[in-house]
Amino acid sequence: MSARILDGKAIAKSVREEVARRAAELTARGTRPGLAVVLVGDDPASHVYVKNKDKAALEAGFTVRTVRKAADLSEVELLAVVRELNDDASVHGILVQLPLPKHIDANAIVRAIDPAKDVDGLHPENVARLALGEPGLFPCTPRGCIEICDRSGLAIAGRRAVVIGRSMLVGKPLALMLLARDATVTVCHSRTADLAAVTREAELVFAAVGKPEFVRADWVRPGATVIDVGINRLPDGRLVGDVAFAEVLERAGAVTPVPGGVGPMTIAMLLDNTVLAATRRAGAGARG
Ligand code: NAP
Repeated sequence: MSARILDGKAIAKSVREEVARRAAELTARGTRPGLAVVLVGDDPASHVYVKNKDKAALEAGFTVRTVRKAADLSEVELLAVVRELNDDASVHGILVQLPLPKHIDANAIVRAIDPAKDVDGLHPENVARLALGEPGLFPCTPRGCIEICDRSGLAIAGRRAVVIGRSMLVGKPLALMLLARDATVTVCHSRTADLAAVTREAELVFAAVGKPEFVRADWVRPGATVIDVGINRLPDGRLVGDVAFAEVLERAGAVTPVPGGVGPMTIAMLLDNTVLAATRRAGAGARG
């Protein structure tokens, strides 16, 4: 029997509609959510991502400020841009599009962002808050994975979850989020021995590896849920995930497609983080 295909595009649409409603309420109370996106250089993929983020934020009723800078911008100059956005009360979320040119230390830039505006959830204070179980702003892609499970009625608590990948952007925060939701979590990486045996134990498999069609059907426990974070462009131009979708579909209970799975959720959760930051700011303003 074929698995249920989890429609990330439809789920992302409902998240975005809810965000737009919350943004309209906030705007009516005097705080219009504002997102600032900083783009340095002329990487074509980054330009496409930034354009999509701008468009989505405008559709949600936010103000959008896009700061475009040439690739030879110095680190000091970029730090000044970030500080200016930190001080701008109309900006609630700041996103510096990565990767940055090699002469700029991305960690220094991320650390300069006000943690309350860090809608990518990469500032060490937010990383610590996630680990501590405190409220903060957390990375969009792993949040999107959790949201897909929640909105598809797939239980997390008590389930064995395997995360393949341990990046700061996806694997590690996702593992912490699953742990916070009472899953029994195993994190795998390039040095994991007999990966297939580990994934076969899991009721929930999250693949964030960056290798096309890496997870095969016989790695998957029959009926398991498989969430595919990967985005890989094949030489023939096709876009595929980290999961061999067609064969896993015949064995899993539920699976996300690529495209149309986790990808659209990332932007939806970026909007959600921005409206969350604006709501907190408005609350702090009302108290102060
Ligand atoms: P990354 O930083 O390159 O991390 C990849 C992880 O996979 C690493 O932890 C690595 O292990 C592990 N890995 C590599 N080869 C492996 C192997 N043979 N067996 C087991 N684990 C292996 O990548 P990332 O930023 O997390 O992204 C992962 C994928 O998700 C990419 O395809 C990326 O394009 C995609 N992505 C999608 C979205 C979205 O919006 N849908 C957002 C972000 C990323 P080590 O730590 O041992 O090296």
